[in-house]
Amino acid sequence: MRAVIRRDAPQPDAMTGDDSPAQRELTKFRQYFAAPGDRAPEFAVYKSDSVKKQLDKLFHGKCAYCESFFASTAPVDVEHYRPKGAVNEDADHPGYWWLGMDWDNLLPSCIDCNRKRKQMMPVLSAKLLTLQEGPRGFSHGVLSSSGKKDSFPVLGTRAVFETSAIASEYPLLIDPCRDNPDEHLRFYIDRANLIGLVIPRSHAGAGLPIFGVNGADEAIRAVIDEALETGLSLKGVVSIHVYGLNRLGLVQERTRLLRQLEFLEMLALDVGSMAQSLEPDPANPQPNDVRDEGIARRLYLLQEQVLREMGRMAKPDAPYSAMVRTWIEGFKARLMGRGD
Ligand SMILES: [Zn+2]
Repeated sequence: MRAVIRRDAPQPDAMTGDDSPAQRELTKFRQYFAAPGDRAPEFAVYKSDSVKKQLDKLFHGKCAYCESFFASTAPVDVEHYRPKGAVNEDADHPGYWWLGMDWDNLLPSCIDCNRKRKQMMPVLSAKLLTLQEGPRGFSHGVLSSSGKKDSFPVLGTRAVFETSAIASEYPLLIDPCRDNPDEHLRFYIDRANLIGLVIPRSHAGAGLPIFGVNGADEAIRAVIDEALETGLSLKGVVSIHVYGLNRLGLVQERTRLLRQLEFLEMLALDVGSMAQSLEPDPANPQPNDVRDEGIARRLYLLQEQVLREMGRMAKPDAPYSAMVRTWIEGFKARLMGRGD
């Protein structure tokens, strides 16, 4: 996941102005909830083309949570960060209907992050969660339910009405437009097995409301308890669990990319050392010096291109860019460690 600045894209047409389709839809819902009749109105504005277009622009056609590109054949799921029609953690909650057409509440999501289903997940040991090393990813996986759907666990007091203060909720899910995912999540890259896992950052817990968790199923409660015990970011832990950020299919996709990065790194290093070995030694001139110097220069240029390609893979429009950034940081550290 990477942070996205929502104001980088203008508000969609369907949500702009006092008489926008969004405003009219909101009025209908207000009337319905003021005096509920037989038939509830339907949410439609969030699916407007102008909404999809702006989300596409902001997120570069990627899922807001896992950074997968949407398959060109699969339509984007416009996801409500605060669920519009029901709250999984609170059976009596009507859903945050007043945010059903609110631009700030909409995110693009891939089907796997959004829809509830069983996914194979790695069992992360406490050691892996807190330290750099640990047992390897999927040596023992478990089937576990993930997908956000109507989940919205919070600490504090849940807002139930349009007039309730949203500010008294502390959401346990990361919104990449409101939170900085880097404060809660990081990548652990196992280079020996070429696996990239999302793990929670440690978190002192300062600033958390001291109230209990406001409605959460048993599985989420268990991960929350574990996070509190080990001093990890609650938002990080719950987001990994609910979005399924280490589900098998996703980890496999990321491994594909890690293979590419591994190849590019090897290429950059090899080309660099070849170039170095061809550089003429001014203290010991040789007949082929001019030719060698030319080849070395071209190899350095090639190395630059390879490095630029790696940099491009970490740009906001590239899939799994947060993981690529972690790889590049590691690569830089490895270069320094080489001492040449
Ligand atoms: Zn996703």
